[in-house]
Amino acid sequence: MSGPLRPGTRLVVATHNRGKLAEFRDLLGPHGIDLVSAGDLGLPEPAETGTLYAENAAIKARAATDATGLPAVADDSGLAIDALDGAPGLFTADWAGNPRDFAAAMARVDRELTLRGVETAGAKAHFVSALAVTWPDGSEAIFEGRVFGTLVWPPRGTEGFGYDPMFLPDGHVLTFGEMSAEAKHGLPPKGEGLSHRARAFLKLAGTLLKS
Ligand code: IMP
Repeated sequence: MSGPLRPGTRLVVATHNRGKLAEFRDLLGPHGIDLVSAGDLGLPEPAETGTLYAENAAIKARAATDATGLPAVADDSGLAIDALDGAPGLFTADWAGNPRDFAAAMARVDRELTLRGVETAGAKAHFVSALAVTWPDGSEAIFEGRVFGTLVWPPRGTEGFGYDPMFLPDGHVLTFGEMSAEAKHGLPPKGEGLSHRARAFLKLAGTLLKS
């Protein structure tokens, strides 16, 4: 592993997803990291051929590092629903089709659960985020975070992105779609990390952002 990531380090955020990019800016910006996105650099999106979130995150970060000669960070994430045997899981983005339509993706979740005779509201689910950081010397580091909760139906809220409006984290009354970005991250000193990405980020920060 290389590092740490010091203030002023130029780091590629290997995503074309604006929602994720905004969250990376929230999480890494305050640490003085100079972020540039793969989307802004016009980098192609590599095929996500892994069978684990961590593998896909590493594929995305490594492709960005190889293309730019810069360290890169990528997230691979998904929503796992217990009653769907963990689906959509690695295929969470695919359920939104092309171009992405998350209202349709959430409607598919509701349809698949209904087909199995399961009530969508109250179904147990969790989000997973694997963050990969890659360096030009070939080294990499992986951090994973999870948040457990239940689904709501119909979806509630217009904040956030993706499946946020149908996810209610355990112990909360607002869905991610009803929370401010700050509340969804739940970072210290107010919280201990709430979202899957914030929890993975706190592990990353503990290891790589120490000066
Ligand atoms: P990826 O780009 O292959 O990692 O796709 C992740 C999928 O999970 C995308 O469809 C996202 O919308 C969804 N997703 C990941 N994190 C979140 C989140 O924090 N809120 C809502 N949806 C998310």
